[in-house]
Amino acid sequence: MADIIQLLPDHVANQIAAGEVVQRPASVVKELLENAIDAGATSIKLIVKDAGKTLIQVIDNGKGMSVTDARLSFERHATSKITSADDLFNLTTKGFRGEALASIAAIAHVELKTKPELDDVGTHIKIEGSDVVSQEVIATPTGTSIAVKNLFFNIPARRNFLKSNTVELRHIIDEFNRVSLAHPIITFVMFHNGSELFNLPESNMRQRIVNVFGGKTNEKLVPVEESTEVLKISGFVGKPEFARKTRGEQFFFVNNRFIKSSYLNHAVNAAFEGLLRDGTHASYFLYLEVDPKSIDINIHPTKTEIKFDDEHTLYALLRSSVKHSLGQFNIAPVLDFEH
Ligand code: ADP
Ligand code: MG
Repeated sequence: MADIIQLLPDHVANQIAAGEVVQRPASVVKELLENAIDAGATSIKLIVKDAGKTLIQVIDNGKGMSVTDARLSFERHATSKITSADDLFNLTTKGFRGEALASIAAIAHVELKTKPELDDVGTHIKIEGSDVVSQEVIATPTGTSIAVKNLFFNIPARRNFLKSNTVELRHIIDEFNRVSLAHPIITFVMFHNGSELFNLPESNMRQRIVNVFGGKTNEKLVPVEESTEVLKISGFVGKPEFARKTRGEQFFFVNNRFIKSSYLNHAVNAAFEGLLRDGTHASYFLYLEVDPKSIDINIHPTKTEIKFDDEHTLYALLRSSVKHSLGQFNIAPVLDFEH
């Protein structure tokens, strides 16, 4: 019989990958912010219009890209962050899959301006649905600006599936908060439809949390510190009396990456046992540092799940250190619920 298998053209492969990487405007925000961080930026600006449906732009003062790299950055599996499979088990960057820009460019109109510090001029590239529309020399500051317009212009089903601007903006702010909380020493600014929503100066963990969630947060925070051979924990838990009905303020960062873990969440809840009113959830902002070799991040394209070599030890340490902190602050079990 005749051969029927063909390799898919790149732009089709990119569009398929995009389905996984880019679920909504907030996914683009996450990828662009993470690229800015990996580029060593100390100052990052996020500009959004119509909850990302019209524009998502990230401007950084990081190391920029050479002319060739600027063009290559949109190719699939093109990355400067790993060179071998071994590197997958010792990751120190947010990115490594080399597919975010290729995916985004496959389903949007993208405009890149970038310049490395030592170059006099930069590169300006426009791409629409994987097609390079133009590439020019441009005068631009050191660093990178990537503007993503008309997201999902060529996937009507995805575009129609987008939620209201309120909902999509909420998702974007959630991503922005996660990234900015993970990197208190980086300056972040965010604009939506021309108004400034966040202006976060370079600071420390505590100050960043307060800047993101408001001044009242400061009095709620109980510090958590623990350091062992395998794990360093720092950060804060919210005092039990401030526990809320929603789970909004629950953050784990592993090596400065926001992750979701119901297992670790359980460990923190166990430490709060007997301290919370029914139906309320403790806040926490916990920063875990582990040997990059002891975790596997390559579980899912969005990288919010991690596999730990020794989950049980982590659980026990987290639970005991949170419990210890709560004890130190003389927080007694809640006996009287009437106040
Ligand atoms: P990954 O981040 O997994 O490497 P991306 O598709 O997100 O893949 O980016 C591809 C490459 O483009 C990166 O490895 C990096 O070299 C370059 N790049 C992307 N964004 C930036 C940026 N803001 N500043 C400098 N280089 C960038
Ligand atoms: Mg990336």
